[in-house]
Amino acid sequence: EQRAAPFAAPSTGETPITTIRVLYSDLHGVARGKDVPVSEFERVRESGLGFCAAVMGTDLRHTPVVGGEEGYPDLIAKPDLATLVPLPWEPGVACCLANLEPVHGGPPPADPRGAVRRAAAALEQLGYGAVVAPELEFFLCARDDSAPGGLRRIVDRLSMVYTVGPQVDPGGVVRRLTEDLAQIGLGAFAFNHEFMNSQYEINQHHADALTAADNAFRLKSAVKDVAALHGLVATFMGRPFNDQGGSGTHVHLSLERDGANAFDAPGAPDEVSDELRWFTAGVLAHAPALMAFLNPTINAYRRLVPDSLAPTHANWGHDNRSTFVRIPAERGAATRVEVRVGDGAANPYLAVAALLFAGAHGLRERIEPPAAVAGDAYHAAEEIAGAPLPRTLEESLDALEADAVLREAVGEQIVTTFLAMKRFEVERHRSHVSEWELEEYAHHV
Ligand code: GLU
Ligand code: MG
Ligand code: MG
Repeated sequence: EQRAAPFAAPSTGETPITTIRVLYSDLHGVARGKDVPVSEFERVRESGLGFCAAVMGTDLRHTPVVGGEEGYPDLIAKPDLATLVPLPWEPGVACCLANLEPVHGGPPPADPRGAVRRAAAALEQLGYGAVVAPELEFFLCARDDSAPGGLRRIVDRLSMVYTVGPQVDPGGVVRRLTEDLAQIGLGAFAFNHEFMNSQYEINQHHADALTAADNAFRLKSAVKDVAALHGLVATFMGRPFNDQGGSGTHVHLSLERDGANAFDAPGAPDEVSDELRWFTAGVLAHAPALMAFLNPTINAYRRLVPDSLAPTHANWGHDNRSTFVRIPAERGAATRVEVRVGDGAANPYLAVAALLFAGAHGLRERIEPPAAVAGDAYHAAEEIAGAPLPRTLEESLDALEADAVLREAVGEQIVTTFLAMKRFEVERHRSHVSEWELEEYAHHV
């Protein structure tokens, strides 16, 4: 048997690597993992790291919701060395991603990264390579415990979209972050201030599905880490402020066949292929269930309102930012669809996997989409605008539960765990008395 070469930590110039951070995504998209001294990594890379499997069934308030039935067994996180990169913002630390495995050959754990690999394979079976580019928006805030949620925006007046420089990026935090992300190969190629006060967007290059989902997951964790190093808080929450619009996770998707873009069809109507229409139709057919993954919080539904540049109906349109799926104007190699519904809180792995499975279903069944919507889809009649989207997390969870195709594709392990955690979240919220209710009712009734 050939022995692998001994582990050599990547160099970052002056500072030797002393710690390897091993990370993976839980079902929420939160980065979980352990820091390993470099001297221990040779062993860890062979045997993996053990974790209590409840980590995959725990809600965002740390309550284990799923896992008890099996007595909270272990799962193993096996480092994927191809993803190892030094972190410029933490000299001495290199970080890699991990795949999740059961301890004793039991059923595979609910691994979001595994779902993306399976989704890409499903398209490969149909003869296509998936090409993906996420676009993530977030708010950058100072920590202020007297403000709601502890968030005070760092830019509160100069809020013009597509502005750059020190006035809208105090301290150059976002600019340096973008440079660092490009340097470590996460494909960040541009950043700008977004429409809302203190809201930013970082664009990432397109890549194969797994690389793109890895890059988006790492970008989110990097943005939050770098913000923390500057004493700031970055939030990808869908709609953190009542007086501002929300943050999206737009996902650009296309298919490649024999080295060419299979969505591009010069000479065809609108110069788009059958594949583009069928893929889009698959996404629209599964829209309500997809939203369980793309809009996975109670809060997400506050963003999906008219005139927000986020959609309110299951529809598509040519270069139309009021629709669920926008077909950007570029053609040739850049022909693609942009799914606009997802918010910042979506787990990039589950979002990408679920969208590819839905698109694959459309391709397989050759589903035809409804007519593309031209102009304002928010205020159009329902025959034109399409089916209204779920208006609450609970409706999306019901749709996922009822969507046999998507459930089977994404995997029962992931779906049942996800549904149980999210139903628990809905129940906790249902019995919670909010500030709004007290203001609305307490003194008048
Ligand atoms: N922030 C908007 C959203 O919630 C999107 C704005 C844009 O088109 O970049 O999706
Ligand atoms: Mg944007
Ligand atoms: Mg976009």
